[in-house]
Parts: sequence; C-alpha cells; structure tokens
Amino acid sequence: MKRIALFPGSFDPFTRGHEDIVLRGLKVFDEIVIAIGYNSGKSQRYFAIDMMVQKISETFKGYPNIRVITYSELTAELARKHKANFLLRGLRNTTDFEYENSIAQVNRYLNTDLESVFLITSPQFASISSSIIREVHRYGGDVDPFLPYKL
Ligand code: ADP
Repeated sequence: MKRIALFPGSFDPFTRGHEDIVLRGLKVFDEIVIAIGYNSGKSQRYFAIDMMVQKISETFKGYPNIRVITYSELTAELARKHKANFLLRGLRNTTDFEYENSIAQVNRYLNTDLESVFLITSPQFASISSSIIREVHRYGGDVDPFLPYKL
C-alpha cells in the first residue's frame, strides 16, 4: 500500500522551510499532497490562493508524486478523501510544538487512521515564517531569499 501524506497549511506564502519539509518527507512517503487551507467565509489571505497553487506546482514540477490542492473542510476528512494515512507537519520550536500537539490530538480523535508525523526544521530554515515574510513584503522588502520561486 502506498504511503500517502497530506501536508496541510495556510502557506501564505509557501516558504523554503515548507519546501524543505516536503523534500525530506519524500524520504518517508511515496506521495505527498500539499493542501492549502482557506476559509471560504473570509478572504483574509495576503497572497492569493490561486497564485500560491501555481507557485508551489512550479516549484515541484519535476516531482510526479507531489500534488497541490486547496481545501476548506476538516483536515481529517480531507485525508480520508485522499486516502492519506499520514499528516506531515514541521516543527521549529516549542511554540510550534504546543500548537501542533493540540491539533494532532484533535485530528486523531476525528480520524483514528491518521498518524501525524513531524519533521524538525533544518537549522538554516528555522527562522523562516510566513507571517514575517508577509510583513517584509508589505513594506517593500526583498523576500526572494525565503521563497523557492520568484513572486
Ligand atoms: P498553519 O497555518 O497550518 O500553521 P503554515 O503554512 O504556517 O500553516 O505551516 C504549515 C506547516 O509548516 C506547520 O506544521 C508549520 O509548523 C510548518 N512550518 C512553517 N514554517 C516552517 C519552517 N521554516 N521550517 C519547518 N516547518 C515549518
């Protein structure tokens, strides 16, 4: 049976830190589905979701086992639909851990077949966060070094 992992996130924007988690995840999983979550009720994203789908697809164009989708439903349900038995997430620090710990408990409760798997960030990407990139971009700073594609 194929080991399929869902990598869910806001990816607003998708960063080199995220790219690193996906590429390292390929050593563990046969297929990775990158799932960009959005809330249909609110459009509070900074980077447009369609543009992000395009940029992520472009980033992994040489990888037939990596797909990009968008979703607006429970992650645990989405995993079921895609026959994914694993949720891939990244951990940078204890703040991530506290947050991820709660989400993983809820996801396990919602879908008992789903195992959350965490990869510790590579040190060179540990300080990259989507929220800081948004701030830098908002005020005209150069964010290219933090992204695996050109905006
Ligand atoms: P969410 O809104 O679900 O937290 P994000 O897009 O911020 O989504 O992050 C998706 C996942 O990637 C999370 O597990 C987060 O901890 C992880 N992540 C974010 N930045 C990094 C990084 N620089 N290195 C490793 N993992 C990261």
